[in-house]
Amino acid sequence: MTPTSSARAHARDIGLDVRAPKNVCDDPHCPFHGRLSVRGQVLEGVVVSTAMQRTAVVERTLLHYVPKYERYEKRRRRYLAHAPICLGVPLGHRVRIAETRPISKVVAYCIVEDLGEAAVVVPGDDPQGAPPTPEATP
Ligand SMILES: [Zn+2]
Repeated sequence: MTPTSSARAHARDIGLDVRAPKNVCDDPHCPFHGRLSVRGQVLEGVVVSTAMQRTAVVERTLLHYVPKYERYEKRRRRYLAHAPICLGVPLGHRVRIAETRPISKVVAYCIVEDLGEAAVVVPGDDPQGAPPTPEATP
């Protein structure tokens, strides 16, 4: 064990290589300060909604190859993930979510790390509809 600062001393080791949150919370479903264990899949996605209390919608996009057209199609899936208060993840941030036991009927993931602002614009969160910046092609 490496010596930790006093602010982060209360965070549990969740078994993943993630930065512990700076704040402390008393959420029993927080993997760092509660009793929730994380195991299974670890995924990355973008927070597309924080309208629910302590739950966020995380969208993950991936490319799937279609052999017939020799091209990739974009696929996406939305996960409902528990959002611990200590992380305070805002809308549009890229996050890492880890699988947990089912916390509710549809929530079986928990946000474990804030990876900062996402590079891509979140769909539905762009009132101006700004066109993407053209890239210089050779
Ligand atoms: Zn916490």
